[in-house]
Amino acid sequence: MTTVLITHPAFLNHDTGEAHPERLDRMRSIDKALAVEAFKPLTRRTASLRDDDKTYIALAHCKEHLTEVSEVAEHVASGHKYIDADTVVSPGTWEAARRAVGAGLDAVDVVMAGDAANAFCQVRPPGHHAESNRAMGFCLFNNVAIAAHYARAKYGAERIAVVDFDVHHGNGTQEIFWSDKNLFYGSTHQMPLFPGTGALRETGVGNIFNAPLRAGDGRERFEEAFRSRILLPLHNFAPDLLLISAGFDAHHRDPLGGLELTEEDFHWATESLTEVARRHANGRIVSMLEGGYDLTGLANSVAAHITALMHAST
Ligand SMILES: [Zn+2]
Repeated sequence: MTTVLITHPAFLNHDTGEAHPERLDRMRSIDKALAVEAFKPLTRRTASLRDDDKTYIALAHCKEHLTEVSEVAEHVASGHKYIDADTVVSPGTWEAARRAVGAGLDAVDVVMAGDAANAFCQVRPPGHHAESNRAMGFCLFNNVAIAAHYARAKYGAERIAVVDFDVHHGNGTQEIFWSDKNLFYGSTHQMPLFPGTGALRETGVGNIFNAPLRAGDGRERFEEAFRSRILLPLHNFAPDLLLISAGFDAHHRDPLGGLELTEEDFHWATESLTEVARRHANGRIVSMLEGGYDLTGLANSVAAHITALMHAST
C-alpha cells in the first residue's frame, strides 16, 4: 500500500495576483519540497477534470451556487474578477476549481478501492470556507465536503469525518454538515479570527466539535485541545472514512495566523489521525490542502504531513 499524491499543473493557472496570499507560488514551493528522494515512493496522479463533477458538487452546494460560480468563473476572459473582498477568479480558475473537486473525488476512488491507504490532494483554490450557497475566503467549492458526500453516494460510506487543523474555522464544512449526524466535523482554529464562527457552543446535532485556540497558543494547548476535543469524540464516532482539511496556516511563520505551531506539530496531528483511521476505517484517509501562506512554513509542513501519511501506509 502506498500514499497517493494528486495534483495538476492547472492549479498554477488560478491567478489571484502577486499580492494575494493564496497565490500560485504555494504550489511551486510544495513541488520543490516533494521533489527529494524521501518522496520517491509516492504514487503520483494528476487531478481529473470529470464529466460527473457537477452531480457531486450539487450534493454539497445548492444549484444557484454552482450556476453563479460557473457563470462568473467560466466567463472571465482576462484579468481578475472579485466574487467578494478576497475571493478572486481569473481565466484559469474554472478548470482549477473543477480539478480541485476532481482531486478529492479521485482520492476517494483510490482509497475506497483499496488501491492506496491514503491520499493527499495538493490543490487550490482551497474549499473549507465555501458554504452551501456562497463562495468566500478564497474558496469557491467546498472540496472536502463534496468528497464526503461522494464517498457516501458512490461507496455507501456510513460515517464520514472531516478533521480541520487550518488556523481558520471551516465555516463552510460546518454549515454543510450541520444537521447530519453521520457527518462529523472537528476543528482546531484560532479565535477570534476570520470567519468568526467555530465557538464551543456550535455543536450541530452533536456532530460538530470545535476547539478554539487563542493567538499565541502553541504545541501544549494545541495537543491538549486536539486530544480532548477532536480525537476523543472522533474515536467514539468511529468513522469509516477520515478526511482532513489540511491547512498549514497555524504554523508560527504564517502571516495570516497567530498560532505558534511547527511542522513537528502537524506531523504529530497527522500521526494521531492515522491511528484513528487504522482502528476504524481500515486506514482510509483523504487529505486535502486548505491554507498555509508562508512558503517555507507551508512546504515544510506539507512534507511533515505527507511523511506521517506515508509511514502509516507502509
Ligand atoms: Zn486558513
